Amino acid sequence: MKMNPSLSAYKERTEPSLTIAVIEGKPLAPPETMDVRRRLPSKPAASERKPTPSTARVQASDALPLPIRHTNKIFSALFMAALYFLMCRWREKVRTSTPLHLLTLSEIFAFVSLVASLIYLISFFGITYVQSSIPSNEDEIDDEVVVNDRHFPPALNAPSTSPPPPPCPLLVDTSDAKIPSFCPDDNDDEIVRSVVSGKTPSYILESKLGDCRRAAGVRREVLRRITGSAMQGLPLDGFDYQSILGQCCEMPVGYVTLPVGIAGPLALDGKIYYLPMATTEGCLVASTNRGCKAISVSGGAESVVLRDGMTRAPVVRFGSAKRAADLKFFLEDPSNSDTLALVFNRSSRFAKLQGIQCALAGKNVYMRFSCSTGDAMGMNMVSKGVQNVLDYLQDDFPDMEVLSVSGNFCSDKKPSAVNWIEGRGKSVVCEAIIKEEVVTKVLKTSVPALVELNTLKNLAGSAVAGALGGFNAHASNIVSAIFIATGQDPAQNVESSHCITMMEVVNDGKDLHISVTMPSIEVGTVGGGTQLAAQAACLDLLGVKGSNLESPGANSRLLATIIAGAVLAGELSLMSALASGQLVRSHMKYNRSSRDITQAAAAAVAAVRNPSEKTKSQ
Ligand code: ADP
Repeated sequence: MKMNPSLSAYKERTEPSLTIAVIEGKPLAPPETMDVRRRLPSKPAASERKPTPSTARVQASDALPLPIRHTNKIFSALFMAALYFLMCRWREKVRTSTPLHLLTLSEIFAFVSLVASLIYLISFFGITYVQSSIPSNEDEIDDEVVVNDRHFPPALNAPSTSPPPPPCPLLVDTSDAKIPSFCPDDNDDEIVRSVVSGKTPSYILESKLGDCRRAAGVRREVLRRITGSAMQGLPLDGFDYQSILGQCCEMPVGYVTLPVGIAGPLALDGKIYYLPMATTEGCLVASTNRGCKAISVSGGAESVVLRDGMTRAPVVRFGSAKRAADLKFFLEDPSNSDTLALVFNRSSRFAKLQGIQCALAGKNVYMRFSCSTGDAMGMNMVSKGVQNVLDYLQDDFPDMEVLSVSGNFCSDKKPSAVNWIEGRGKSVVCEAIIKEEVVTKVLKTSVPALVELNTLKNLAGSAVAGALGGFNAHASNIVSAIFIATGQDPAQNVESSHCITMMEVVNDGKDLHISVTMPSIEVGTVGGGTQLAAQAACLDLLGVKGSNLESPGANSRLLATIIAGAVLAGELSLMSALASGQLVRSHMKYNRSSRDITQAAAAAVAAVRNPSEKTKSQ
């Protein structure tokens, strides 16, 4: 692997786990503009910056008097020269039958140089090799991360049986002297009164009481006294509050229950899956179930993951557009890609930088970092990697002002063309050929009717609406239901539901080829809500719970393909219902007359047999 000066320089304070980054774009600047590594006289930003854990980390090579890139070169050259010299001398002595142990001054010097340089090189590369084989600390101890102006506390990956996790730093501010001290033995009523009066902050209850369930109960009572609402329908017991502490939800007072329905089996890539869907939308599971049936009896669906990379795009400001361009050229220079990857990848042993795409708005630079994140959805991981690079860049661009680790070019939880075109998370395409008789018998419509409706609704209709990634019937319905069931971030439904549904006739105009192309499915099987008991059970049903030990990232990619397969089923069924004109008729029947239990049950059975969708699903 090529080792450029920047890379060597960075070895002063990092560990190697090199991945070649594919940095998009070519250097556009003339040679003189590439001289961005020249140190400027003053470094105000760098000197004012507090050392981060990564920059403050002491490395063995810190003790060296010269920049590591120079010492590396010197010792390598010394080693080669001494070796070459001694080999020549040795050959000469053998030829002239001179005893080998009789050494001249130059030979002694060469020998000492050889040993010294060997010791240096072994210790340098040996230490870094050992470091690379030891898991990065960051994987086990997640630093607090700021994402979209929100502070994310350290992730807790331990099962709930493990010792209590450290409390969220945002929840515990014991430095405030005004907070009255109370002990866990205090009467709940006293604590409630203290919180109601404002003397004790509500957010401190977990850490003060050391009992998360009790804290939730106290908080609930406080709420009742303040608002008069007992929130009777909201369950309090039967939930592991410890498992969400510092990770999933702050200041809990209970939990919302959601029904989980199962659609399937879905035949996908030679396997079958039963799809857990958490929803309160009637007909959704039934409809998806019908789509699964149509796909399965037609021979199943196939999927391909086209790309896998989470993105984060900080925004930084310079004094001039010229300087902003300097940074862009630097980041897009292929000769810097190894260094940047090395710096970035320190965030986790699963993080691998893939590329950086830069956009300028005057003197502001937006850098869209893309990286693979193993089985994690990856927002924390990529944000930490970005922070590492920002810290690193500050040395060479001291005039760079970091405005935010997220500058919206990422783009997270907002519809945007960049995700639709470039992808974010997993980009997946999923297809199936539905036989003509299946379209007729199971879907109760015809192939030409489906193809025509798809063109006029999902393609032309969405174009008329000016849709952005919305060239589908209801991908977000299925994405949201599976996201909630499997502990994904439901807000990422926005871009995860980007989908273009295509329907074309095949096999001499008889059968239907249907595909969904989804460029930005953002899912993980570790971290966030995925480790909660209910959500983990749903992931387990799909065979994708936790991290894939053999091939990190395989579980989250499989989950993305299953979601795409489920969307395929949902599209097929809703489009069929619309094409056959069942939709409104069935919904009027199902939604208006189901107060009576018997009628509701009958309607539900009918829906499973001949599902249709609510108007809001369209
Ligand atoms: P995210 O980056 O999606 O917000 P978290 O930071 O909450 O995810 O969770 C990722 C954590 O899980 C990291 O600390 C990482 O070291 C750990 N982890 C364990 N196994 C894996 C894996 N196979 N892929 C990715 N991360 C993993």
